[in-house]
Amino acid sequence: MKKNNLFKTITAVLTLMLVVVSCNEKDAKTSNTSAAAAEKKVYNWQMTTTWPPNFPVVGEVANKYAEWVEEMSNGQLKIKVYGGGELVPSLEAFDAVSNGTIEMGSGASYYWAGKTPAAQFFAAVPFGMNSQQLTSWLETGGGLELWRKTYAKFNLVPFMGGNSGVQMGGWFNKEIKSVSDLKGLKMRLPGIGGKVLQKAGGAAVLVAAGEIYTSMERGVIDATEWIGPYHDYKMGFNKVAKYYYTPGWHEPGTQFEFFVNKEKYDDLPKHLQAILEAASKRAQVWVLSEFDRQNGIFLDKLVKEEGVEVREFSKETLDILRGYTDEALREMIGDDALSKEVYESYSKFQNRVSKWSKVTEQAYYNKIQK
Ligand code: CA
Repeated sequence: MKKNNLFKTITAVLTLMLVVVSCNEKDAKTSNTSAAAAEKKVYNWQMTTTWPPNFPVVGEVANKYAEWVEEMSNGQLKIKVYGGGELVPSLEAFDAVSNGTIEMGSGASYYWAGKTPAAQFFAAVPFGMNSQQLTSWLETGGGLELWRKTYAKFNLVPFMGGNSGVQMGGWFNKEIKSVSDLKGLKMRLPGIGGKVLQKAGGAAVLVAAGEIYTSMERGVIDATEWIGPYHDYKMGFNKVAKYYYTPGWHEPGTQFEFFVNKEKYDDLPKHLQAILEAASKRAQVWVLSEFDRQNGIFLDKLVKEEGVEVREFSKETLDILRGYTDEALREMIGDDALSKEVYESYSKFQNRVSKWSKVTEQAYYNKIQK
């Protein structure tokens, strides 16, 4: 009897082992087959942007990004690009990608500052880093890792999508000689810049892009900022304002972004993930290059053909605004631990790189640049 039981037990164990082994083999085969299928599968994605369709430079680069990805992937990853409002309203892009309705989006992270204040640091901080410094922080200074950490809780993977370079300070119909000239001034100036204007006694007015020109014309607002000569010329601001102020202290190098739904990203084979990353780096180079090229052409047009007067804010004015900015940033961050972590990394990097920029870039601009 005992022998018989032992035999039965051994048989049962062996059978079980056989089942386990065959199941494992089956699993391995299935996962090999699905990995092999993913390697060949054609992915059809959608991208929703926060820009009007084909918006110069930042809208254009979304189309280029899709072309580059399709070309590099030999047609395996196709991305159809939609302007803001075509699939979802511009400012719903973040949520639509976060919940997986749409695979990816493009925008600028300061649009999402209301969801997490840390987002602000990956787009533009008044008196913050310029494009060269910010790219350095993102690429090799740990900035991109912090950006990915910030977006992870929203189920998103962010990528660099270009930088505008230093923007212009805005269009005014009176000279801004000191901070007191900002008192009572109604200006379209979004984000932290707007909070800083309010601390200086001005009023930051929210105006949709399509209504800025008429708001200036009708005196609903006294001043506006937009981007730089290329975009501003197309908006016709030179027809409704006399002075064009520089520098854009509120946007010293606005960073743009692509963001991908985390599950959709994880679902891609490794080589397609690498292609998304490579195309993002190409976008980073293309956008700044195109901004610089076009802004050079259009600044000339504005000054020579349109008689626009370019004025610089005084050092005194800027120093006071810088003080208000520090206050505004502290209020914005509040007790948010992640924002503090990002702010600390950003500030530390900025302090160090600024010293280097001062002895090289700044010396070059001051002494050599014509
Ligand atoms: Ca701007």
